[in-house]
Amino acid sequence: MTPSGITYSVQPGWAEPPADPAPALQGGIRCDVAVVGGGYAGMAAALRLAERGVDVVLLEGGYCGGGASSRNAGQLTGAPAGDPEMLSALYPRRFPRLVHLAEGAVRFTEELMARLDTDCEYRPTGNIGAAVSKGQLRKARRKARILKKAGADAEFGDARDLGLPDSFLGGVHERAGGLLNPGAFALGIREALLRSGARVFEGTPVRAVDPQGARVVVRTAGGHVRAERVVLATNAYSRALAATPSRLAAPVFVSLVETEPIGPGRLEATGWTSGAGIATQHNLMESYRPTPRGTVVFGVRRLQPGRGAVREREPGAAVVTDLVRGFHARFPSLRDIAPQRAWGGWVALTPSWLPVAGEAARNVFYMIGCNGHGLAQAPYLGTLLADRLAGDETHEDLAAVWRKRPSFAPSPVFNAPALRAVWAVDRLADRLNSTGHAGPGKRDPS
Ligand SMILES: Cc1cc2nc3c(=O)[nH]c(=O)nc-3n(C[C@H](O)[C@H](O)[C@H](O)COP(=O)(O)OP(=O)(O)OC[C@H]3O[C@@H](n4cnc5c(N)ncnc54)[C@H](O)[C@@H]3O)c2cc1C
Repeated sequence: MTPSGITYSVQPGWAEPPADPAPALQGGIRCDVAVVGGGYAGMAAALRLAERGVDVVLLEGGYCGGGASSRNAGQLTGAPAGDPEMLSALYPRRFPRLVHLAEGAVRFTEELMARLDTDCEYRPTGNIGAAVSKGQLRKARRKARILKKAGADAEFGDARDLGLPDSFLGGVHERAGGLLNPGAFALGIREALLRSGARVFEGTPVRAVDPQGARVVVRTAGGHVRAERVVLATNAYSRALAATPSRLAAPVFVSLVETEPIGPGRLEATGWTSGAGIATQHNLMESYRPTPRGTVVFGVRRLQPGRGAVREREPGAAVVTDLVRGFHARFPSLRDIAPQRAWGGWVALTPSWLPVAGEAARNVFYMIGCNGHGLAQAPYLGTLLADRLAGDETHEDLAAVWRKRPSFAPSPVFNAPALRAVWAVDRLADRLNSTGHAGPGKRDPS
């Protein structure tokens, strides 16, 4: 049954659009560096460049932070995106460097929050890769081993030790990071950027980026920028720009649901005493996090690929119904709690599951594809790219994802039938688990 009374929104779930939009670009200007896209990556890059005295312009199609950056679940995670088993098998030598990057990104983001003095409601609980079946428990144990071997601050534990809700069996606690209000974080960076020496233009979609001799011309509806160098920080919206390397990343739509406020003590009564963010070990995870407003935000289970130019949209009713079903399965004692709001956003998935950065054409740089772990990694990599453009040696964490050539393999996994099939496999595993075929889904009360 489709749950009723839910507000479906095209807007981010965490913050209202700013009341003071920056002006749109009109006419022609010049600068050292033009940054296209004002999410965490683009804003952090522009902020760093401005702080280092570089003449920087940022062009944002909507408002800064209005993309994935204020739509995400707010789980600041210190592990690489993607399955560590797969990544460590595919990239055995690079994997420890990816772990180093992921934990460095968390430290950077914590310091940035403190420096900007924005109230992001941050709680450094870490996040738990949690298991709902014996198979998932084995996977979490392997994951903990692989992450630890690569240098991560991660530990396997049972559900009680980790303070997980009763329907979970245990998991891997990734201790770096925690939970925050991602919208407040995005607007905090935006405010710092507006106070800096950067020139910021909102409501300014970039239509073309053309290298011309020693300069690059960035064209918008009302004007153009002649820059020495350009940074593309356009994330899941990148396909619309011809300057983006082809097949760089596929846009997929991710949906989130928020419950009504849950009465005091009821979350703890489910066993969720840690208050840490949770991501299950399904092929397509379920995520759960408590919020300071007394609600739970949960999401994913299904990914919907984007076709053509990506536009803001509401989550579909079928996806939301499926997410609510998952919430009821994991929190059976909260079945009376009504889901209240649903929103979503676009994530860029790269064929390799790794973030990537590089030079798309002469003096046109890109940085993209944190694959759903960009809350920490996008501002970090954006800042490291800015440091490189300001003259520093390439930082080892940026070097870990730097591409020598802008060519990318096709990614058949991100088409609609393949993503539906992955979802179906996860639901089949859930059904087998709940009927006892694949082991108990409940914690042993002894
Ligand atoms: C529903 C959801 C849940 C998520 N949960 C988490 C989580 O819990 N933890 C985590 O680490 N990550 C999470 N993520 C991922 C994270 O939000 C992203 O990786 C991160 O925000 C990416 O930042 P960005 O700056 O690269 O992109 P974005 O924030 O998407 O910013 C890109 C900006 O570029 C602008 N733009 C694009 N094209 C143009 C153009 N041609 N001209 C001008 N402007 C342009 C867009 O308007 C947009 O503002 C989630 C994402 C979503 C959508």
